[in-house]
Amino acid sequence: MTQILSGVYLDYSDILIRPKMGINLNSRRDVNLQRVFKFKHGQTRTGLGVFNANMATVGNTDVASHLLARGMFATLHKHYSTDEIGHFLQNANVPLDNLFLTIGLKNIDDDIQKLHALESEYGWTKSQNICIDAPNFYIPKALEILARVRDEFPNSVIMAGNIASPDICLKMLDYADVIKCGIGSGSACLTRRQTGCGVPMVSLILECADVAHSVSGHICADGGIVDVGDISKAFCLNSDFVMAGGIFAGTDESAGDIIEKHFQTNEIVDGHPVVCVKYFKQYYGMSSEYANNKFAGGMADYKTSEGRELQVPYTGDIDKILQDICGGVASCCTYIGAASVKHMSKCATIIQVHNQLNKVFEKYSV
Ligand code: 5GP
Repeated sequence: MTQILSGVYLDYSDILIRPKMGINLNSRRDVNLQRVFKFKHGQTRTGLGVFNANMATVGNTDVASHLLARGMFATLHKHYSTDEIGHFLQNANVPLDNLFLTIGLKNIDDDIQKLHALESEYGWTKSQNICIDAPNFYIPKALEILARVRDEFPNSVIMAGNIASPDICLKMLDYADVIKCGIGSGSACLTRRQTGCGVPMVSLILECADVAHSVSGHICADGGIVDVGDISKAFCLNSDFVMAGGIFAGTDESAGDIIEKHFQTNEIVDGHPVVCVKYFKQYYGMSSEYANNKFAGGMADYKTSEGRELQVPYTGDIDKILQDICGGVASCCTYIGAASVKHMSKCATIIQVHNQLNKVFEKYSV
């Protein structure tokens, strides 16, 4: 018999972090945003656990460089050629310890070859980081490929996903260091509409972190970040890392095309309606028809598109958002008495709410 799990599964918009008395800090400057990550398979990395999504629009070298320069983590998408990645590795003027190169399941032989070529030709080393990305890590060959990648790269930090249940985490952590959790939450995602599948992020983080941490694994909460405050929520819930795409999509640094649109306003000057210009950037899901046409020679006839193509408002310099992230996380720490990001989950009290934001003047914002 089909069963319905009792209890409500919650998303970021269903909760808030309750401020409280504790060892509160006098200034956000006193908060340590850097965390030392000791990974299950031996490596150590230090940084603020925020990643850009490994998507063609925001998993580009420009976005990655800015996150790395801010002491965060970064991915490069899997559609870069060996030479393009090699050029970046040799010319980037940021530390590359926290950079993850993405590989997929579909062309795994070619992708492994690419990593070997980067090692022999461009100085990438086997102790660097790999992200194995699949929309659905439940297919049996995903685990086989993960085991094979671990075998070929025993000293790498390996992040793998995506999944949306705790049951698969232990198996994956035999080979992976970080499990990428989140199905259906992304802003360019259609999986929930097309398949009915998905799990809200808050409950998913709680379930997966509990299992992963019991065996010294880590998790990365991927998708669904709407406001930078959601990143603090994820850390308070015990997620080690957060991955986001949409919040970086409108920036100068994203790879999406810039789109100029002209709107007629209600204002009349000299008998003519005033026209205003607004700018947007293209953002598309990696399972969208657009991405399938661009990278896979079209949509296969047995598939439905699980992603969409969007035009998101242009937001300018990415550093503004990165500053908001650092400032937002530091401020959250001062509200809950956490001296560092590492302590957020220990200090946080989470409340379930019906209404998290006051949106009364939202449509008037400039
Ligand atoms: P966002 O931060 O925009 O809410 O979510 C980014 C995440 O959405 C990505 O890291 C990835 O996990 C997911 N994603 C990207 N493209 C697609 C897609 O086409 N379909 C689905 N279902 N998820 C996608």
